[in-house]
Amino acid sequence: MTQDELFKNLIAHTKEYGFIFPSSEIYDGLSAVYDYGQMGSELKNNIKKYWWDAMVKLHENIVGIDSCIFMHPKIWKASGHVDAFNDPLIDNKDSKKRYRADVLLEDYIAKLEAKANKEVEKGKKRFGDSFNEQQFRETNPNVLRETTKIQQVRERMTKALNDNDLTALRQLIIDCEIADPISGTKNWTDVRQFNLMFSTQVGSVSDDAGTIYLRPETAQGIFVNFLNVQKSGRMKIPFGIAQIGKAFRNEIVARQFIFRMREFEQMEMQFFVKPGEEMKWFEYWKQHRLAWHTAIGLGKENYRFHDHEKLAHYANAATDIEFNFPFGFKELEGIHSRTDYDLRRHQEFSGKKIQYFDPEDNASYTPYDIETSIGLDRTVLAVLSSAYNVEKLENGEERVVMKFHPVLAPVKVAVLPLVKKDELSAVAQKIMDELKFDFNCQYEEKDTIGKRYRRQDAIGTPFCVTVDFDTLNDNAVTLRERDSMKQERVPIEKIHEIVAQKVSMKRLLEQLK
Ligand code: ATP
Repeated sequence: MTQDELFKNLIAHTKEYGFIFPSSEIYDGLSAVYDYGQMGSELKNNIKKYWWDAMVKLHENIVGIDSCIFMHPKIWKASGHVDAFNDPLIDNKDSKKRYRADVLLEDYIAKLEAKANKEVEKGKKRFGDSFNEQQFRETNPNVLRETTKIQQVRERMTKALNDNDLTALRQLIIDCEIADPISGTKNWTDVRQFNLMFSTQVGSVSDDAGTIYLRPETAQGIFVNFLNVQKSGRMKIPFGIAQIGKAFRNEIVARQFIFRMREFEQMEMQFFVKPGEEMKWFEYWKQHRLAWHTAIGLGKENYRFHDHEKLAHYANAATDIEFNFPFGFKELEGIHSRTDYDLRRHQEFSGKKIQYFDPEDNASYTPYDIETSIGLDRTVLAVLSSAYNVEKLENGEERVVMKFHPVLAPVKVAVLPLVKKDELSAVAQKIMDELKFDFNCQYEEKDTIGKRYRRQDAIGTPFCVTVDFDTLNDNAVTLRERDSMKQERVPIEKIHEIVAQKVSMKRLLEQLK
């Protein structure tokens, strides 16, 4: 199965089993907007809790807030979003499709990288155990040709973006001979800037004074509450403010399922530090965030850092944590050292002094800020795509199993009477009533037990508890584990303990120490 087919199957699976639905589907959908179904919402909530606990519970010096989506319009002037939150867009005159110029170039670079990697794979096969990848990459003419090209394209793209030189950006697309994937032609318009913020009117006035924006990031809600939180919480530098919430961007390249949406959720944390100490904390948060990702078992090899070559004018360091999605390595989280830019700008635009008095230094200063900003929906996609497994069973059948980390699994236990009989249902219901206070459980008595197991595999339930006629005598049930499909007989009173151990958030969080 190709990655493309796999991705299509995953999307179909998430719809069939209630994870994700296209928004407004009965009206033919709304592009780049998706709804979370009954399973997707549980999964999303579990990820949120894991992030919130890792940030707010585990760090005594981090607190969480919930600021509003609507904010004073001047905030977006101060943050730079009104003037500079733009994407460079280019249209193909034949297909009439619009693209982000930088994304066209990134895709082109990804193709060159794939070519180079193919050569490396060939080399690996040819030389076997004696293969030295680094040496091969540095000397093989085919690989060198691609890497030189990649470097040149990157340098020109970075310069054009830094200089805001849209003509140079277009020229680079022409020089790379990039064709529209739909029309196949190179008939491109000029590159233009397009602001990504959604605007709306507040109250009944329809002039400019009433225009407000749907927030394009949650971060600004934290910056404008810096003093409120610092003072009311008596916070001492270094400290952090965390927030989970919706953000809105009028994305033009809206594809790849929930990877790029117009309405999405972010989990952001701003960590305020003493000026001069930001690099130490930047490194700390890089490592800490990577540990958070790898603890949920999606494979260390599926993450990499991508340091920014094009730094925003206010940042003095920035990196992305990229994940190996079904369509390749792409940004999952951004970690940015934003200096004192945001707080200073809000001080300037609001006219209110935003500073911190450091009792140790007996001096006031504007703190520097390290931001960790992760897309919740992209994390859901990473988790879904890694969990999705199609397995051949010994009896020749196939099963689709979502191998979620048990802490993230939407349903933890399914309680299943072997057949639909009152005496079995009564015991099963009793078990259910006991477990449901601590775990999200499902009770199912329809269809054969085999079919019910398959359904639970498809939603990734770690445990199935089957009540049969022996249960009535021995007070024991069959406990089936999702991944190994192993079944064992356990006393009813042991179920809670076994499940609790496996789905323990505490044990997951302990890995982050
Ligand atoms: P990209 O380059 O992919 O557009 P970005 O660099 O603009 O992303 P940030 O502004 O750093 O993204 O936002 C922080 C995080 O929010 C990203 O790492 C990503 O996980 C998430 N995110 C950003 N835009 C979207 C979107 N349109 N849909 C879903 N998640 C998003």
